[in-house]
Amino acid sequence: MPSIMALMSSFVDNRGDAAYSEVLAEMADRARAWEGPIVVVAHVDPDGDALGSSLALTRALGSLGKDVTVPLTPPAFLQFLAEPGELSGPLEVLPPDSLLFVLDVGEPSRAAGAPLDGAAALFNIDHHGTNERFGDLAVVEPSKAATAVLIKEFIDALGVRWTPAIATPCLAGILMDTGNFRFGNTNKETLNVAGELLEAGVDLGDLTDRLQWRPRSYFALLAKVMATVEFAYGGRLVYAKLTSEMRGEGADDDSDDFVGVIRYAEGALVAVLLKERGDVVKVSVRTRAGVSAQRICLALGGGGHVAAAGATLPGPMAAAEAKMLAAVRAELEREAVTAD
Ligand code: 5GP
Ligand code: MN
Repeated sequence: MPSIMALMSSFVDNRGDAAYSEVLAEMADRARAWEGPIVVVAHVDPDGDALGSSLALTRALGSLGKDVTVPLTPPAFLQFLAEPGELSGPLEVLPPDSLLFVLDVGEPSRAAGAPLDGAAALFNIDHHGTNERFGDLAVVEPSKAATAVLIKEFIDALGVRWTPAIATPCLAGILMDTGNFRFGNTNKETLNVAGELLEAGVDLGDLTDRLQWRPRSYFALLAKVMATVEFAYGGRLVYAKLTSEMRGEGADDDSDDFVGVIRYAEGALVAVLLKERGDVVKVSVRTRAGVSAQRICLALGGGGHVAAAGATLPGPMAAAEAKMLAAVRAELEREAVTAD
């Protein structure tokens, strides 16, 4: 006989699952019935999940005959996912009577492409644990590897027939947020969802290959950034810098997953990339073994997930580096205390 506690906890878990599926179903009903314009926005500096989720949702809604606008400017290395003319520039104001979807946006101030006020209805779909569930309807599930996993479920709820054109950006979002299924956020559900997207006709080998293409300038920059690698705190922190000078005339479009390279330094619990952008320094943090990138970045005024987070600090580089070192030290000390 299972204990009463086990029964209660499974009851609570099931209710939790049902609750978010019910909200997704309600969103789907309302979206299907929506007669006005629909706008889809994602977070500033859109990544593969932001773009992939937006494109999959837009194509699914488009197949239902909806008028959908996606004001999103992707980095160059992701542009191949979008059809020419499919994305628009930023909107100053929302069209009257619009339904606004906000995807992969942990906090309203990180939304990009259109103002959030003025929507007739705002639907928030996200997987950041720090999301405070803003909007008229919100589905925030931090256990999901990517917002694209929730979008897969939402498109099922819409009852749209899956095509390779809808499934490909959806799987791209999952691939990018799981590092091609290598990160700890990958679970059985992630793989099952990916399997269903493959069934819809995605070419996985071709998609993963294409997502990793980089321009020639990337390789020269990679060499410069790797030459800055330093270790601190007995090797528990590895970090590198990308300065404006190194970048030169080349565009900075977030295609450079340099933190994704150094995170594999043996013995490191924290990996940080400091990226100079004009007057500010963008910080990318990756962690393992119970150390929280999210706590480090919240202390720096940013946010994100437990194992992958970011923040934006004022420059110059040396000042940002000092702040980062102090925040990482505080988290390593906290972790050492709680681990004892
Ligand atoms: P990345 O290091 O790849 O830019 O971001 C990793 C994660 O942290 C993503 O989930 C991203 O949304 C979040 N993130 C990155 N920069 C910031 C920031 O400045 N503020 C907040 N709140 N989240 C950030
Ligand atoms: Mn995401």
